[in-house]
Amino acid sequence: MFDIVIVGAGPAGLTAAIYGRRAAKSVLVLEARAWGGQIINTPDIENYPAAAHISGADFANQLYEQAVGLGAELKLEKVVGVEDRGETKLIRTTQAEYEAGTVILATGSENRKLGVEREAELTGKGVSYCATCDGNFFRRRDVAVVGGGNTALEDALYLAELANKVYLIHRRDAFRGEEANAARLREKENVEFVLNSTVTALLGEKRLSGVEVADKRSGEKRVLEVKGLFVAVGRVPENECFRELIEVDGSGCAVAGESCRTKVPGVFVAGDIRTKEVRQLVTAAADGAVAATAAINYLNG
Ligand code: NAP
Repeated sequence: MFDIVIVGAGPAGLTAAIYGRRAAKSVLVLEARAWGGQIINTPDIENYPAAAHISGADFANQLYEQAVGLGAELKLEKVVGVEDRGETKLIRTTQAEYEAGTVILATGSENRKLGVEREAELTGKGVSYCATCDGNFFRRRDVAVVGGGNTALEDALYLAELANKVYLIHRRDAFRGEEANAARLREKENVEFVLNSTVTALLGEKRLSGVEVADKRSGEKRVLEVKGLFVAVGRVPENECFRELIEVDGSGCAVAGESCRTKVPGVFVAGDIRTKEVRQLVTAAADGAVAATAAINYLNG
């Protein structure tokens, strides 16, 4: 029996673990993949207070060391369900079952798919969702990034250093991502903006050889001969196995306010999984602190 079981070892979950351990609670963190969450794919974090530059991987490792150093236990097991048994919660993984006084769900989000035909078939064969993981395969090639948020802008900046040419395809003419990133892209000679445009087809037999894009205003179609397409069109919360337990809104986010409390006493949510305005590293960490403090108060009655 643990005081707090945390599902997800991203910045929200590991911050919650730090707060839980500092309050002398027993803490188990369950993670399906690797600790760190989506931040491990960020080459350079520039907007975390007092850390002007740190790679996502270093940030994740330091956070892991801090949580484990304080005595949190971390197991790489995929959670498949959480059952509310009143005073205790039962957490099922693919390997085992755990009991806890409280649960903090911090599973983050996964890549949204573009929704174009043959996307799944060509994933890993030219279509990628992670520029920092796969960008190196496209050295000196022509590639495209699709999306207009910070991820797309940062991916395009990263790829501009590796690839021969980078097309940035966005469905509007204004970016959702920060102007500072857009301004840096405008200065790159090998970056071309393809605005007001959507991807209408993925071309190529066994591997991607090009993408067809359509201008939304004129309807005119154009083929970009690229070997890589990096899809960066946002993320959707990963909460499939908790949908029976907690309330989710239309976009799939767990309904919870700034208190990180759900409608189930003893069950809290933190980070990208929950309804929130600002999805940033700093707000994920803040959620971890808030959710753990709420769990500690709940345990202390
Ligand atoms: P996002 O901000 O939600 O942006 C998604 C982008 O994809 C939007 O521009 C959207 O277009 C476009 N889009 C959505 N569905 C589409 C579709 N089916 N077809 C074509 N385009 C589509 O997602 P994100 O860039 O992954 O960022 C997620 C959060 O993380 C944001 O809060 C972001 O600021 C944050 N983030 C921060 C940093 C940083 O601070 N360094 C880095 C990365 C991410 P519309 O604009 O037209 O809706």
